[in-house]
Amino acid sequence: MIKNICIYCNNDIKSNNLKKELIKKLENNKYKIVNENEDLGVAIGGDGAFLRMIKKTNFNSEIYYIGINTGTLGFAQEVRAESIDDFIEKLNKNAYKTENVSVLEIEIETDSKKESIFALNDVTIRDSELNTTKLLIEVDKHKLEKFVGDGILVSTSFGSTAYNLSFGGSVICNSLHTTQITPIAPLNSKVYRNLLNSIVIPQDSIIEVMPEENKDNLIVTIDGENKFYDSVKKVTMFVKNKRIKMLREQDYNFIDKVNEKFLK
Ligand code: NAP
Ligand code: MN
Repeated sequence: MIKNICIYCNNDIKSNNLKKELIKKLENNKYKIVNENEDLGVAIGGDGAFLRMIKKTNFNSEIYYIGINTGTLGFAQEVRAESIDDFIEKLNKNAYKTENVSVLEIEIETDSKKESIFALNDVTIRDSELNTTKLLIEVDKHKLEKFVGDGILVSTSFGSTAYNLSFGGSVICNSLHTTQITPIAPLNSKVYRNLLNSIVIPQDSIIEVMPEENKDNLIVTIDGENKFYDSVKKVTMFVKNKRIKMLREQDYNFIDKVNEKFLK
């Protein structure tokens, strides 16, 4: 039962006006607007707003999430800005279905610390000066390659339509719980040999990335947020059974969404 709703809103005028209108309508329909412990998180904005909501709520598997699109693309945003009456009606009738979307878990180990982070879309691993970086990539302790190039991107199925797509990665149906390793400007010559395409890895497989000298300074970008790490020993990434629950229209179809957002 959804009763308590928290709204996560972008800071532009359109989103803020929509938020005011939405709060009024939700309260008229006996929902309670809360700042924490919500049953449902609603992100008003684009995909970035959705990603920020998921991060702010710490990838909470217990609650439901939905987005209202006032952004530019809004691939994740299920509700159109003009359709908030329809949104409330569907909430009242319990008419949404749930899609379980997998979350990427990342562990970053440096000389001095070990940090665990979640991502919904993706992680890019690059040299902190954006120079060529050499990374040993292993999957389940099997060597895939000694990567040489700008870096790599590891994306979830959900993130496959984001940065991954711009680097020539594959679109993956969101109902599949995979990770995808996509090279960023891989070098290829008689000296270096790299996979030029993405490789898709099943759930539970563990990707380990080790800088060559065991001490590279890296920029690790997680869902669009840059973090700098000195002397990185290893970055470990995997999708296990951690999921978030997204509300979807009854007739939601991933192929339709790809067609609508990228091809129409
Ligand atoms: P942003 O710079 O606004 O994102 C770039 C574009 O990616 C926006 O059009 C955004 O949609 C879209 N997007 C984000 N997540 C998506 C998803 N899961 N499926 C399809 N499209 C998606 O930054 P942001 O909004 O904070 O999003 C962060 C994400 O941007 C990162 O995780 C990364 O994947 C992506 N990114 C892409 C590029 C690139 O393609 N060259 C460069 C940097 C970052 P909205 O317009 O609705 O926000
Ligand atoms: Mn954005």
